[in-house]
Amino acid sequence: MQVVKTYSYRIKDSSCRNHLCRTAGSVNFVWNYLNATSCRAIRERRQWLSEFDLNNLTSGASKELPLLHSQTIQAISKEYVKARGQSNQAKLRWRSAKKKTLGWIPFKASGVKLEEDTIKYRGRVYRFWKSRDFPEGGRVVTGSFNQDAEGRWYVNLQFQMKIEEPEPKGERRLGIDLGLKTQATCSDGEKLKRPNLTKEWEEKLAVAQRAGKKKRVRKIHAKIRDIRQDWNHKESTKLIESCSLIRVGNVSSSGLMKTRMAKSVADAGWFQFKTMLKYKAITHGVDFEETNEAFSTVTCSQCLERTGPSGIRNVGIREWICSSCRASHDRDVNAAKNILIFGLVGRPDAGRFPLSSGNAGTGGSKKNS
Ligand SMILES: [Zn+2]
Repeated sequence: MQVVKTYSYRIKDSSCRNHLCRTAGSVNFVWNYLNATSCRAIRERRQWLSEFDLNNLTSGASKELPLLHSQTIQAISKEYVKARGQSNQAKLRWRSAKKKTLGWIPFKASGVKLEEDTIKYRGRVYRFWKSRDFPEGGRVVTGSFNQDAEGRWYVNLQFQMKIEEPEPKGERRLGIDLGLKTQATCSDGEKLKRPNLTKEWEEKLAVAQRAGKKKRVRKIHAKIRDIRQDWNHKESTKLIESCSLIRVGNVSSSGLMKTRMAKSVADAGWFQFKTMLKYKAITHGVDFEETNEAFSTVTCSQCLERTGPSGIRNVGIREWICSSCRASHDRDVNAAKNILIFGLVGRPDAGRFPLSSGNAGTGGSKKNS
């Protein structure tokens, strides 16, 4: 798994402190220019200049500012837009040494040259105390020179590196069928039931809407969102911690949102649930993939004949018996089993199905990396 970590080293700054301070002065100059320009654009044209706009405005400026690498100027634009977004203010604080702004000089990896205990920036070599080794196999992506309140300088290097995959905590290997409404079904038979929030809040919502209480309507929607998110968090964590492998159907909520099923899909909100499973799977070492779930309902997970209920007409059928192998099925558990099988070895008609028994557990699983 790729992660980015910051390593910090103290610069031997007695000989270069002044130079770093002057460079930081140029950074401040660029920052203040961006601040003034961005602020004017908002005031006069209500335009919030993007990072791209600011890069255009400052392109070529490194010719006038010999201390700064052109990428440093771009990094300042990036940081400016980020800080402006976080503060949500049209104008940020000016940077200046007089106002005790701490020195800051950002750079990208290609703008510096790193050797044993030196770093070269804009033709000048800075020595630092190598208080710890660089991470093995790590690669610098970005970094910055930074001053602390005592006036000391440091170089912070952001290393991208690979770390060991975590081991999954659980052993279940699951297919999961995300139902349209409030139920998710696991291939081992477990069913997750979520409170039907739309139904529960429908009346209150209708009352508030009729009374024209916009604030109250917003509040109820926020409440529904919160409860749903909370449920999604808890249940996705439980699943991830009990599994080593998960396959989930690729049902697209956005497509269904446009149909008359919209309300129940919105209520189920499986998209968020799936997203949570996905990122928690990465940090827990769980093998996770989405599977094309077409035919998962009509296929018998035992003999893989398409003997199950199909079509809108048969949506109500919850249990059925396979006419080919006589296995009896719960509709949703069967679908979940198929999602696992399809996810591991492919669909029967996909032409790569090494099947005789239809046993999903022995299929060749692909390890995510
Ligand atoms: Zn069958």
